[in-house]
Amino acid sequence: MANPGLKKSKSFVSKKSPSVKIISSPNPNEGDEIVHFSHPQHPLAQVHLPFVFTCMGCKEYGAGTRFQCLTCNFNLHDFCAFSPPSIQSHPLHSQHQLIFYAKPSGFLRSKCETCSKATKGFAFRCITCNVEMHPCCTMLYPQMDFPAHPHTMILLPASAIPSGDSSFFCGECQRKRSGRVYYCAICNYYIHAVCAKDMVNGLYVHGLKAPKSPSMLEAATRIATHAVREFLDGLIEGIGESVGGAIIDNFDRDKGGETKSK
Ligand SMILES: [Zn+2]
Ligand SMILES: [Zn+2]
Ligand SMILES: [Zn+2]
Ligand SMILES: [Zn+2]
Ligand SMILES: [Zn+2]
Ligand SMILES: [Zn+2]
Repeated sequence: MANPGLKKSKSFVSKKSPSVKIISSPNPNEGDEIVHFSHPQHPLAQVHLPFVFTCMGCKEYGAGTRFQCLTCNFNLHDFCAFSPPSIQSHPLHSQHQLIFYAKPSGFLRSKCETCSKATKGFAFRCITCNVEMHPCCTMLYPQMDFPAHPHTMILLPASAIPSGDSSFFCGECQRKRSGRVYYCAICNYYIHAVCAKDMVNGLYVHGLKAPKSPSMLEAATRIATHAVREFLDGLIEGIGESVGGAIIDNFDRDKGGETKSK
């Protein structure tokens, strides 16, 4: 008697990646859910929280928008959740297609061509050249407009600045780091590609820095988990009436109680 077409809200398989099933809507918004191959046991909800997380896909940091399992504290960058199976002619490696791998190759030193950091999880790999790129780094292009600088910056050729060269000054970290470098010719201003990643993964816009030690991240994760609980409690409380109204009610009640007890 039930129409099978109405059984579930628009459930279909994303065209971008065959292994991501979007449960609620074709263009995920806050609160929408997906089933991802890397965490098939629970759905992941798209949430926006201004805290640092470690992406369980690429094993790198992120902040802001993420897909999260609220049962397991499992997080994925949005760009990792929707990694395509392959990238044809990426501007930083246009000669061959890059293929998505969910696990590190396990041989050679798997290091990202762009940021020079190790690839420990999701990565795009050229099997001809044996080079890899983080999902985040595939979003870095030869020319970028970064929020940290008023002019368009260009990615210098890998040969222009030897890895670890300290003859320039990175405007973001002021440290000596490996990997490629963005440059503004107007200001003679430099930013490491590895520092530019924080402008793609949500850290920069939330005023956050990548934690320096794993213990610091653990603390950050604990706080974040707590905040998620509070956030969700708030949502549940707000159902059926305005959240603002509920907050004001509670505030008044608390205040009244205090006055009475005096
Ligand atoms: Zn990731
Ligand atoms: Zn889970
Ligand atoms: Zn990278
Ligand atoms: Zn190649
Ligand atoms: Zn830097
Ligand atoms: Zn400039």
